[in-house]
Formats: sequence, C-alpha cells, structure tokens
Amino acid sequence: VILAGIICGCLVKFQNRIYAEEKEITEQQKEEIEQLSRSRSAFFTNMSHEIRTPINTIIGLNEMTLRENISDEIAENSINIQNASKMLLVLINDILDMSKIESGKMQIVPVQYDTGNLFSDLVNLIWIRAYEKKLEFKIDISEDIPSTLFGDEVRIKQVLTNILTNAVKYTNEGSVTLSVQSEQMASNIVRLRISVSDTGIGIRKEDMENLFHSFKRVDEARNRGIEGTGLGLTISKQLVEMMGGKITVDSIYTKGTVFTVILDQKIVDGNPIGSIDFML
Ligand code: ADP
Repeated sequence: VILAGIICGCLVKFQNRIYAEEKEITEQQKEEIEQLSRSRSAFFTNMSHEIRTPINTIIGLNEMTLRENISDEIAENSINIQNASKMLLVLINDILDMSKIESGKMQIVPVQYDTGNLFSDLVNLIWIRAYEKKLEFKIDISEDIPSTLFGDEVRIKQVLTNILTNAVKYTNEGSVTLSVQSEQMASNIVRLRISVSDTGIGIRKEDMENLFHSFKRVDEARNRGIEGTGLGLTISKQLVEMMGGKITVDSIYTKGTVFTVILDQKIVDGNPIGSIDFML
C-alpha cells in the first residue's frame, strides 16, 4: 500500500509538471502570437506610410500634366493614371485604418466643430458625383440641430463620406437622399440620426450580414465592375462603435438601400443651425 501510495504520488507530481510545462508553452506561444500580430500591424502601418508618399507624387505630377496643352491621347492616359492612383490611395488609407483598428491604435479625437460646415462639406463633395451620374441629390437636414457640437469631426466625415459615396456608386438611376434629424437626450447631449437612402441596386438578405466584414464585396458590386476595397463599411462600423454609436442597414434588393448612423454628440452651442446654403 505504501509503495502504491508513493507511486501514485510520483505520478500526480509528474502529471502536474507536465500540466505546468504545457501551460508555460501555451503562454509562451500566446506571447509569440501577440508579438507576431504587433509586428504585422507595425509592418502594414510603416509600409502604408511609405507607399503614400510616391502615390501622392504621381497624383501631383499627373495633375500638372493635365493642366498642360496636351493631346487627347495623352490626356486620356493621364486621366486613367489619375483614377488608378486615387484608387490605390483609397486602398492604402483603408489598410492603414484597418491596421490601426486591429492593433488598438485607432483613436477618437473629439473637437468642437461647426455642424453646418460638416454637412455643407459633405454635400459639396457628393452632389457633383451624383450630378455626373444624373442622379437627384436630395437633402433633408433638420434646422433645429445645434450649430456647434463636440465629437470626432474628421472620423464622422470619413464615415458619412463612405456611405454617401457608396449610395452614389451603387445607384444607377433615381436619387440619393441625405437626411439628418436630432433628438435632445440630455441638457448637453444631442442624438444625431443621419440616414442615407438610395434607389440603387439594393442588397440581397443573405448578403446583409457580410457587409461589415473586411474585404467582403457583394458579388453584384464585383460583377458590375464597380471599384471598391470592401473595407469602407468595416472601418465605418468600427469607428461609429468607437464613438459609442450604431450603424444600421435596411435594403430591398433591386429597389434601394438605407444606411443609418446614430450618434450622440455633446452640445457646445445650443443655437439651431437654421437653414444651410448649399452651393449646388
Ligand atoms: P466597397 O469599397 O466595396 O464599396 P464597402 O465596405 O464600402 O466596400 O461596402 C461593402 C459592400 O457593400 C460593397 O461592395 C457593396 O456590395 C455593398 N454596398 C455598400 N453600400 C451599398 C449600397 N448603398 N447599395 C448596394 N450595395 C451596397
């Protein structure tokens, strides 16, 4: 019995040592994986910075060429170079943002901003694209939104630009509508409800859940040769959630889509924006 006890004791100790070693290996492996992930993110961030500089040079020099008195053939080539370079820049910026989000380095930087400026910048950017595609661009911005808010203006603009650009990209006829409503949540907090609706190609029910996953492009978009990275909505969703907000989508296939961003912002100046003059 004593011998059996000693053997059992030894076995238990031996097993405990194996467990301890296994645990050690697992933790070591975990550390290695984290290190690899950090290196990968750092690599993408550095690489993206490095690539941005030459692309900007190409775009700048090409713009100068386009301003010169050049033949139609050279102009056509230059426009193609311009479009391809801009597309590459969008891709690089998206990869940079994705790697920042994945490595936890993306930061929300709230500033005081002029609400009217935010929406007029967006409208000025989008109406021309809508006009080029012969789409009607409708604007329904409530006049009682506070004129000065506190939030991350740059990132809100990025999210809304992405959604508005998509609405124009995926709509071939009809209209795109930007609607902004506000609701007072507390004496110094306002809830913005920003919707972008379109009469475009729509999204199938089975594709809806994949929309916010990286590099997921619905076949319809790919098949029609519409350019895109498949990262915009993933980044937008992450940014809106980092700001404590929500982004939702509703769509009827072949009829149209509505994206809604719901975001709480601090009020700096409670005066209403009133009507905004857009330079359409
Ligand atoms: P992309 O760069 O491909 O536009 P996004 O992440 O912005 O990437 O969008 C992901 C996919 O969601 C698109 O490829 C497209 O299939 C679909 N999508 C986004 N917005 C719309 C829209 N307004 N109407 C129809 N499909 C859309």
